[in-house]
Amino acid sequence: MLESVLSLLLLAEIEKTQVAVQQKVDSYYAANPPAQSYKYNITYDVSSRGTIKGSLDEFSRVVDATLQDPRGWIRAGVKFTRVQSGGRLHVILASGEQVRAAAPGGCSAELSCTVFPLVLFNDDRWLYGTDSYTQAGLSLADYRTMVINHEVGHFLGHDHLSSCVNGIAPVMLQQSTGLRGCKANSWPLNSELWVARH
Ligand SMILES: [Zn+2]
Repeated sequence: MLESVLSLLLLAEIEKTQVAVQQKVDSYYAANPPAQSYKYNITYDVSSRGTIKGSLDEFSRVVDATLQDPRGWIRAGVKFTRVQSGGRLHVILASGEQVRAAAPGGCSAELSCTVFPLVLFNDDRWLYGTDSYTQAGLSLADYRTMVINHEVGHFLGHDHLSSCVNGIAPVMLQQSTGLRGCKANSWPLNSELWVARH
């Protein structure tokens, strides 16, 4: 009798230990996703071009946070690592004139633009957003997140999409120029989680 009580207690103790170990493992992987779960490793650097009014420090912080965010392209198996210079992806805060000059005829001075492997963020849009966003009552922070994910989406080989998915705007819909009846959205949708170029 005593022996079976003891063995039950022992079993309970082993179970508690196993649960504790599992919790540790879970929290470890949450904090340190195993590298082999990433299919692509992309280095990036951050710089500016032309005369900009925005803060490069603030821009860098928002870019870093967006590229590391678990809602972002990381879900497509992309690990982004910031380097001082010489990255595969060049993230640039640029004057409108410098955006246009990166691909005359292809990029406008009014919007952001990707010219692989350059991703150029228009300084004016960075500071003020666009009418379609402000008129819909959306925040500048959401706009910035959306544009970073949109332009990095171009870097990864995505073209534009033109219709909502279940009423939500894909990140590759040109939300900067109009929401087309979709709910604004700053992150890639499940259907957008693929990489064609890196
Ligand atoms: Zn675009």
